Amino acid sequence: MIMPNNLGRQYSLHADEYKKKACEVLDSGWYILGKEVSAFEEEWSKYIGAKYCVGLASGLDALWISFRLLNIGVGDEVIVCANAYIACVMGITMNGATPVFVEPDKYDNIDAEKIEAVITDKTKAILAVHLYGQSCDMTKIMGLANKYNLRVVEDCAQSHGNHWNGKTVGTFGDIGCFSFYPSKGCGAFGDAGAIVTDNEELAKLFRVFRNYGSEKRYHNMMVGSNSRLDELQAGLLRVKLKHLDEFNEERCRIADRYNKEISNPLIQKPLIRPGADSTWHQYVVHVPMYRDALMEFLKEREIGTLIHYPIPPHLSEAYAYLGHKDGDFPIAERFADEVLSLPMYNGMTLDEQSKVINAVNTFKAEV
Ligand SMILES: *Cc1c(COP(=O)(O)O)cnc(C)c1O
Repeated sequence: MIMPNNLGRQYSLHADEYKKKACEVLDSGWYILGKEVSAFEEEWSKYIGAKYCVGLASGLDALWISFRLLNIGVGDEVIVCANAYIACVMGITMNGATPVFVEPDKYDNIDAEKIEAVITDKTKAILAVHLYGQSCDMTKIMGLANKYNLRVVEDCAQSHGNHWNGKTVGTFGDIGCFSFYPSKGCGAFGDAGAIVTDNEELAKLFRVFRNYGSEKRYHNMMVGSNSRLDELQAGLLRVKLKHLDEFNEERCRIADRYNKEISNPLIQKPLIRPGADSTWHQYVVHVPMYRDALMEFLKEREIGTLIHYPIPPHLSEAYAYLGHKDGDFPIAERFADEVLSLPMYNGMTLDEQSKVINAVNTFKAEV
């Protein structure tokens, strides 16, 4: 069975290093906000190319705390792509702000050409989601943000270390948000997240907010939350980070092979926007007519695939209160019916890659 993702493979590439670090942290007797977290924050900000990094408990926390600290809430609008992961939208709505959806373009990211038309006097920010490992058009997004004085938050949960015109994503907007959920590029062994920013004042607010609003023990300057990255995850993430470039390169090699060898005319391979690169968090093909049949066909051949994502947020039950209906965002809705993520993980063997390619290429329309 070839699984869509296989975290055990990536782990086994460096298992001894993780075990050693885990024991080191356990033996240290210090588990929350210690030297592993500070060291990881420094290393991650350096890797991304931002001045500050603050470790948090999850990617969703990174998003909603960002909007909270930017004072974006009830009555405010935040622009986001209509094919986003639901957590992106929850990051916006947790503080009461309203998501304003914009259709994706053929690169599966927000169509920046369609943003200006939805800007109103309530618009406060754009959430740029770098979906599937590919960066959005940050030149256009930052141009609009400057023109209309909007904040920009980047959701880099699926984009650890990829670039727009050579500059690492997460460094364009006011805040870059990261999830280190185990399946993400630099994945932890549990839940974890972080933000990066060049704004010293904001970085300080995140540090205070994540720890009940206290800068000094028992002195609470604001109502905060508990969203601390823990020492064990931070330590393990430091090990992962050492190998992140090698992980990203390996996924690029797999994607290159898929790009070269998948040749089934029923399948549209992913497109990369000029100026962008991808770390291939997912290898997402579009199958306009027979997506579900292909998924079943691959399953019969013991190849697992996933759909990212089958229900666009505006049609999710959770967002019924926004009052959207079927047909409001036809491109995002069509994408939900035609996208399919092929197996993609570190440690995937050449033989497994060949099996996927051959199976995909033998799929015919009749099935
Ligand atoms: C995973 C993910 C999140 C949420 O991160 P968690 O750590 O699971 O809270 C947010 N946005 C995107 C694009 C994601 O892929």
